[in-house]
Amino acid sequence: MSSTLSVRWTIAPAIAPRPFINCKRCGGAKPYRCSEKFRVNANGKRIDVWLIYRCVGCDNSWNFTILERRNRHDIEPAQLTALESNDPALARRFAFDAAALRNRAGRIEESSDVTVRKELLDGEPGRADALALELRLEGTAPLRLDRLLAGELGLSRSRLQALDDRRRVTMDGAKALRKPVRDGLAVRIDLAGEADCRAILSAACR
Ligand SMILES: [Zn+2]
Repeated sequence: MSSTLSVRWTIAPAIAPRPFINCKRCGGAKPYRCSEKFRVNANGKRIDVWLIYRCVGCDNSWNFTILERRNRHDIEPAQLTALESNDPALARRFAFDAAALRNRAGRIEESSDVTVRKELLDGEPGRADALALELRLEGTAPLRLDRLLAGELGLSRSRLQALDDRRRVTMDGAKALRKPVRDGLAVRIDLAGEADCRAILSAACR
């Protein structure tokens, strides 16, 4: 009797992307890290908001434009309060918006370090012999699926490849083991007859 362990992994990048800015003090392009501090400038009714980044070499600052010459009345009061008080959750939301940052800065550096939150949806690790993973991606991370699976399941990438070669790994849509993880991807790994089946299934939800 085969049974499936269903687990949801929510993957979030651990380090905010860093823009490369031409640093006048260092003389050359340098990565700038997010300070998680906003600068809010009110000029009459007009409001500008930036998120401040600092050069990793010399601490020089660079402003990531969040709001530009916006009418005060068009901004939610709660949003303005959050900006003025450097709300960490709001700062993170802007800092992890890699597309917007790339738009402003040109070149950015994204870390592949992620945190993975695992939720058991159905089944028992001790009884199942197949794993059904549902992947959720919060933000963007340049993370290959095989690296994620190998790291989180405690497998070597060659072992994972061997399972894939034996058609034990299936996913919806095109084969994407070497491609970046995408939001909503469902992956199924059939582990029937594998000696370390239980260890792999335990790792999947721990
Ligand atoms: Zn610098």
